[in-house]
Amino acid sequence: MKNAAGTPGRLIDIYAAQCEKCLKWRKINSQEVYEEIRSKIQEDPFVCEKREGMSCGDAGDLDYDSSRTWVIDKPGLPKTPRGFKRSLVLRKDYSKMDAYYITPTGKKLKSRNEIAAFIDANQDYKSAPLGDFSFTVPKVMEDTVPCGIYERTPKASKGSQ
Ligand SMILES: [Zn+2]
Repeated sequence: MKNAAGTPGRLIDIYAAQCEKCLKWRKINSQEVYEEIRSKIQEDPFVCEKREGMSCGDAGDLDYDSSRTWVIDKPGLPKTPRGFKRSLVLRKDYSKMDAYYITPTGKKLKSRNEIAAFIDANQDYKSAPLGDFSFTVPKVMEDTVPCGIYERTPKASKGSQ
């Protein structure tokens, strides 16, 4: 479910959630709303009706296909603490994504230790629960990676032309 789609820029540019009932993908307008849905998806599955004026009868907003690269998040990941921003960058070889957090002061934090140190040194943010920072990255869906990217690790050829 929920996913987000990378682009040539290798940053997430579209957030989407999949309806539990009709399996259509619905565009989610902001990272914040997306994270809210993702954090509760296990107890509160996403359905089309959650989008205002939308129902399962409406056409999907986007299709899961290789016209864009899809990455699928782990359900239940916590919502990013207020003031911080979670950022994901797709590696050049499309092998995986890397996660980091940007603090309210614009600092980039790349590990749980860096976050703990930042919160320790900045008591203003001590209300941000350490457990709500997660470096669990979404899975890059290999079948949506542009052709040629995986050619460097050739699979056994079937021998037909
Ligand atoms: Zn639906």
